[in-house]
Amino acid sequence: MDAFERELDLLARVAVEVGLGLQEGQELVITAPLEAAPLARRIAEHAYRAGSPLVTVLYEDEVLALLRFLHAPEASFDRAPAWLLSGMAEAFQQGAARLSIAGGDPHLLRGQDPSRVARASRARSVAYQRALELITTHHINWTIVAYPHPAWARAVFPQEPPEKAVEKLWRAIFKATRLDAPDPVAAWAEHNRGLQERVSYLNQKRYQALRFKGPGTDLWVGLADDHLWAGGPVRAKNGAVCNPNLPTEEVFTAPHKDRVEGYVRSTKPLSYQGSLITDIEVRFERGQIVEARAAQGEAVLQRILETDEGARRLGEVALVPHSSPIAQSGLLFYNTLFDENAASHIALGQAYSECIQGGSALGPEELAARGANRSLIHIDWMIGSDQVDVDGITASGQAEPLMRGGEWVWV
Ligand code: ZN
Ligand code: ZN
Repeated sequence: MDAFERELDLLARVAVEVGLGLQEGQELVITAPLEAAPLARRIAEHAYRAGSPLVTVLYEDEVLALLRFLHAPEASFDRAPAWLLSGMAEAFQQGAARLSIAGGDPHLLRGQDPSRVARASRARSVAYQRALELITTHHINWTIVAYPHPAWARAVFPQEPPEKAVEKLWRAIFKATRLDAPDPVAAWAEHNRGLQERVSYLNQKRYQALRFKGPGTDLWVGLADDHLWAGGPVRAKNGAVCNPNLPTEEVFTAPHKDRVEGYVRSTKPLSYQGSLITDIEVRFERGQIVEARAAQGEAVLQRILETDEGARRLGEVALVPHSSPIAQSGLLFYNTLFDENAASHIALGQAYSECIQGGSALGPEELAARGANRSLIHIDWMIGSDQVDVDGITASGQAEPLMRGGEWVWV
């Protein structure tokens, strides 16, 4: 094994042990870009050795995805392989774990008609909804890890020759995933303890709102009634303990869909399905976005907001310190798995039911009554930086400092 193979093997082991917490006898469904086959195979090997009876890998081919946009009839863009996606839901229903390998060409669909991109994405979201619900309610254990896809590396390091770019992206993934620690599994246990401490501190506080202040930002984010903070490891309903994202640096909760006021400016570009949306500026009234601008990609942003009624409201607010290893890398990854862990962020769209007390037992109306938002989309974008302060607002209206200059004040 050469050095890269050994490191890939380490990522695969950490993905199965820490990311999935794969149970003996549990099937595993992996989705991966074709390019990530070397990692998918190593993960499968570790899963089999951990006692999984069956690992199924579904590969995604970017060339095929592009051919559809170039040659398929117009009706294509309202279609999705519902039979395949409901088959995935069935696998999760029957207890299979889920692993997604992230990494792809962030610019793949650049230049394609944004309304076609949005329609195709909507059709897929509708067909995937049941599977996604089983994932987001933690019916099963799941995780996402990254592979240094060549086109992704080219986007992050455009000035480097291809091989060097892949090497640099791999180093960044390796570090952000804490694989450079002497014992990565122990390093994750330690990091998880820190995240859990913050979660329990914030849960004791029962803040009614968070207030973000910084350049271009004065935002009041009311929190949902009975909201719960979450972050780090999760015990799925099947008893397995998983880390849903590798890397992860965030603690997050559900905003109240009707209680967001003020204006906010993004602090990093948002890479969304092949388009880049930069310098987003939006204004909220009673929870709803009433004005939205972007320096680049404004048409894409407007289409996102038109997806459904919930797309103009918030489903997540997350706090991430500026000292996170991903922020410190100074890179824009064009990938939510990494970029959302570089800065505090908000998400348009669907809220997580785990962010409401007893939420997984509540129906959609009961969740909405507590302020949890509902939408086909969930799109994170970054609003934190070393110039942004965050206060927690107590039930009596007192402001308590949580972050100053992008760092936690009480740790
Ligand atoms: Zn998040
Ligand atoms: Zn999110």
